[in-house]
Amino acid sequence: MPEPRTGSLTTEELLALDRRHVWHPYGPMPGRQEPFVVESATGVRLRLAEPVAGHRELVDGMSSWWSAIHGYGHPVLHDAAREQLNRMSHVMFGGLTHEPAVRLAARLVEITPEPLEHVFLADSGSVSVEVAVKMCLQYWRSLGKPDKRRLLTWRGGYHGDTWQPMSVCDPDGGMHHLWSGSLPRQVFADAPPDGFDTPPDPAYEAHLRELIARHADELAAVVVEPVVQGAGGMRFHSPAWLRVLRQACDEHGVLLVLDEIATGFGRTGELFAAGHAGIAPDVMCVGKALTGGMLTMAATLCTAAVADGIARGEVPVLAHGPTFMGNPLAAAVANASVELLLAQDWRGEVGRIETGLREGLAGTERLPGVRDVRVLGAIGVVQLDRDIDMAAATRAAAREGVWLRPFRDLVYTMPPYVTGDEDVARICAAVRAAAAAG
Ligand code: PMP
Repeated sequence: MPEPRTGSLTTEELLALDRRHVWHPYGPMPGRQEPFVVESATGVRLRLAEPVAGHRELVDGMSSWWSAIHGYGHPVLHDAAREQLNRMSHVMFGGLTHEPAVRLAARLVEITPEPLEHVFLADSGSVSVEVAVKMCLQYWRSLGKPDKRRLLTWRGGYHGDTWQPMSVCDPDGGMHHLWSGSLPRQVFADAPPDGFDTPPDPAYEAHLRELIARHADELAAVVVEPVVQGAGGMRFHSPAWLRVLRQACDEHGVLLVLDEIATGFGRTGELFAAGHAGIAPDVMCVGKALTGGMLTMAATLCTAAVADGIARGEVPVLAHGPTFMGNPLAAAVANASVELLLAQDWRGEVGRIETGLREGLAGTERLPGVRDVRVLGAIGVVQLDRDIDMAAATRAAAREGVWLRPFRDLVYTMPPYVTGDEDVARICAAVRAAAAAG
């Protein structure tokens, strides 16, 4: 029998066990980077077990991958979790229901574009995309069109790490090209022209319309990230393309799925990025900032038309039901996070960070090796003309007292909305330092 373990680990012991046993996201990358050990996190600061480059605390420039919009340890979220914990942390959702999940579903319907009406509460972003795809395929099957089961997407996208989402990630330079021979074969349109403010481009519009028209008989849905393509390359594009997609999908009988997992809850300056275009999708995925980054929960919303279509099928149920669906603890925190966001001038705060990032990154485009600098909402990106040395770039940011996680040719930041002006300036200095070092 193994002896029970007591006491905490030293940093050295912890790192040794980590190296030996633990998979990190997209790890291991032997010798490329040793993780920093985080002891606690409060506000916009991560407290490390040991100083790194002279800093015991790092300002978080990542919001734990878009999610910690209120910073860490927010008392409102903690109180919501504590209160819910005293009632129940989890019960199965099949045949049972409860207030946190019902309130959350109703609130999401209220704040997302009409006519989204039904909500599936998933346990991760990737699963919410799986569910979105399942909804679309099942819808067409129910309507007697089972051949409509392919998806069209933009190159350069990223939608998660499970099978269907991987099939709509960038097929070439993207993270999942390893699997390209085994994944469902989807239809890829060129990525939209770079830039939020780009002028109309009739040739690109024709390209999108032609592809949708040509493949309409086999397309279940178009699946895209609205306005910002995140992990596939941190590209921004014009909301006009969403309007083109909406129109073309309507003309040719194809559903439109918007993946707002990264862009949702204010990040781009609109509550949801679809708001820049004034359109509504048939199906929409949200996650990440849904719980303020505190617990794992995501949601797939669909219109009544999609739900009714599924209900008319030979199997009139949405065939999906993860164990932790509708988790009451996560739902209670999500409710608190959404209300906390909506009760404040989130547009003003995101705008303030946008201004800080624009000012702080001004001139960075003239540094050697910098190809492009772009800012939208609370997102700042410096793109280099080469792949970065991640370990060197991360350390350079840490020397400025900031946590960043550069990858490929990108140094980028999406700070919590509560980041003060001085800390935004510090993050910008760290982005420049990381770009120069890597
Ligand atoms: N879609 C987008 C746009 C994302 O940015 C992500 C996460 N990076 C996902 C889907 C997958 O979400 P999760 O990591 O929670 O599975």
